[in-house]
Amino acid sequence: MASFTELVNGMKTTFRTGKTKPYEWRRQQLEGVLKLMDENREEIAAALNKDLHKPKLEAVVFEIDFCRNDLVDTMNNLKEWMKPEKVKKSLANIMDSCYIQKEPFGVALVIGAWNYPIQLTIMPIVGAIAAAYIKKEPYGVALVIGAWNYPIQLTILPLFGALAAGNCVLLKPSEVSWNTAQLLEKLVPKYLDNDCVKVVNGGVTETTALLKERYDYIFYTGNTFVGKIVMKAASEYLTPVTLELGGKSPVYVDKNCDYKAVANRLIWGKTCNAGQTCIAPDYVMCTKDVQEELLQNMKTTLGEFFPDDPSQSESYGRMVNSRHFQRVKKMIDSNQDSIAIGGDTNEKDNYISPTILKDVKFTDSAMNEEIFGPVLPIVPVKDEDAAIEHIVSGEKPLAMYVFSNDKTVKDKFRNSTSSGGLVINDTMMHAGVMTLPFGGVGNSGMGAYHGKLTFDTFSHNRACLERELKMESLQSIRYPPYTQKKMGN
Ligand code: NAD
Repeated sequence: MASFTELVNGMKTTFRTGKTKPYEWRRQQLEGVLKLMDENREEIAAALNKDLHKPKLEAVVFEIDFCRNDLVDTMNNLKEWMKPEKVKKSLANIMDSCYIQKEPFGVALVIGAWNYPIQLTIMPIVGAIAAAYIKKEPYGVALVIGAWNYPIQLTILPLFGALAAGNCVLLKPSEVSWNTAQLLEKLVPKYLDNDCVKVVNGGVTETTALLKERYDYIFYTGNTFVGKIVMKAASEYLTPVTLELGGKSPVYVDKNCDYKAVANRLIWGKTCNAGQTCIAPDYVMCTKDVQEELLQNMKTTLGEFFPDDPSQSESYGRMVNSRHFQRVKKMIDSNQDSIAIGGDTNEKDNYISPTILKDVKFTDSAMNEEIFGPVLPIVPVKDEDAAIEHIVSGEKPLAMYVFSNDKTVKDKFRNSTSSGGLVINDTMMHAGVMTLPFGGVGNSGMGAYHGKLTFDTFSHNRACLERELKMESLQSIRYPPYTQKKMGN
């Protein structure tokens, strides 16, 4: 195999030929991704099951069809998205045409602009005949580094978004979900342009080496610690980055809620993919009274979701590997006195039962780091103000969940806190609304994607102004000498 330098340089050379820019090439690649997904549904679901014991329904809904629906939407809208975007103009530019072009760095483009009608009545100001618009252009070669918990979704979404925007892509799936990573390495060359899309598999050594190369865009999904490593590497060449990171996503449950509905929505968010979701509800804050109501209802919900014990259920996943199993088991072991529900583990198949911890304190070990497993601590607080105080004194979360029927409470959280996403009266559902930006803020990430925003993320907005070399006499007002007459005196 070629060295990483040769690999990246080869893609840069291809990109410079302009091959990736036409609509037809982009469309062809998107059709390739669609075919890849459609012809390999079973194989993809099987790899996800091998990696994470991912239930078939979760594989289809959160990985395969999640990508497919967004992909089809991208295909249907791509022509429209690629069009230059009209921008507002001031009186001084009324005769000009201004536009933003989404473009690659350092590559000259033919700009397709639309024209404005010439309004001769306002012409005397300074205008000349010109065009102004936003043109979206590809950056060039994009490095996409994926995480293991949704190994298809987190690689395929940025992959087709980058292709739709006309970039070349170097895809680095997570080595932790090894079966899926190998499947992607096998399938991608079969369906996509081999000069423009490459898959590199490997671990920290390979990713570290890849990060030494120069890209035009880096899109990273994973933990915050490595996010900083990626950003440092990107800073060497001032390469733009999207960082999709994690952290602790808090929940507040207000009094006077429908506790059964709250329990269902919380337990669903916490047990989906065995809690290994970046936007999983990490911990719950509520009053002591609400804690008791919630615990009763959570017991009922768990009995309904997994009637024959979660370890026997086809609807319940496993920890991805023994390292993550041990990490979460240690958390349970050191909080033995707090276990209200669950707490069962089986090292043989990395099984951890849905576990609810009660009367947890902010200083307890379960509150130190992102849980990323099926353990849900409940921290009693005095009221919503105490919960807000805790949230704003820490890092800005990726997601925040508030359960309440009270407008004042909802407004307080909306107006006094910040997070990547805010969902009121549910968990995780915002990720499926492809018109909403998906991403973090501060420690939980930088940039956002999904739907058209993925296309925008991988496009450079080039500001374009086109004028005509006509009516030069009208321009003289801006040229020296700056006479008193020109100043209006
Ligand atoms: P991971 O271990 O798969 O790492 C992600 C990628 O980083 C991998 O491709 C890996 O090869 C690379 N990597 C790991 N260590 C590295 C190093 N030292 N130097 C360079 N590259 C390195 O995934 P993870 O970090 O365990 O993923 C879980 C975290 O990701 C959680 O914090 C979760 O919240 C977050 N996450 C965020 C999103 C999101 O969309 N915001 C989605 C999924 C996961």
